[in-house]
Amino acid sequence: MFRRLKPDQMVECVCNVRLEELIRRGIFNIIIDLDNTLIPWGEDQIIPEVYQWVKAGHEMGFKFCIVSNSSFKRIRYFASKFGMLVAPKRGKPLSRAFKSAMVKLDGNQHNTAVIGDQIFTDILGGNRLNLYTILVEPISKKEFIGTRVMRFLEKTVAKRRKP
Ligand SMILES: [Mg+2]
Repeated sequence: MFRRLKPDQMVECVCNVRLEELIRRGIFNIIIDLDNTLIPWGEDQIIPEVYQWVKAGHEMGFKFCIVSNSSFKRIRYFASKFGMLVAPKRGKPLSRAFKSAMVKLDGNQHNTAVIGDQIFTDILGGNRLNLYTILVEPISKKEFIGTRVMRFLEKTVAKRRKP
């Protein structure tokens, strides 16, 4: 159980994910979360550093697909801003959401990574499908109340994981 909650990599910001390193691992498809990974939760501002990171990714040949539990209207809006695909299914951490993204990307478990800010949705969902998982720190402290409950649980799990 706990093994599935452990990301392969942790970074402060999505813009700190080293794309060359992913290419060395044979990864060129990225399933990415929207709120608090690409965009501050509940806001419409695109952070220039994040935008530049995505742009660099496209130039290096990466394909991106957003998997989010947010509204499709919001997902599609930012997908077009970033030039990303949209997973037709939601409901993270259910596998169907991630599988629908992999079909969109035409990816497989060896060439696809998941990036997100939540252990119980992004990381758990990605690890279930044996994808390479990267946890980022949430951009904004303002969060949906349900997410705050999850943060509390995450901290509890993290404490228990320590030897
Ligand atoms: Mg998120």
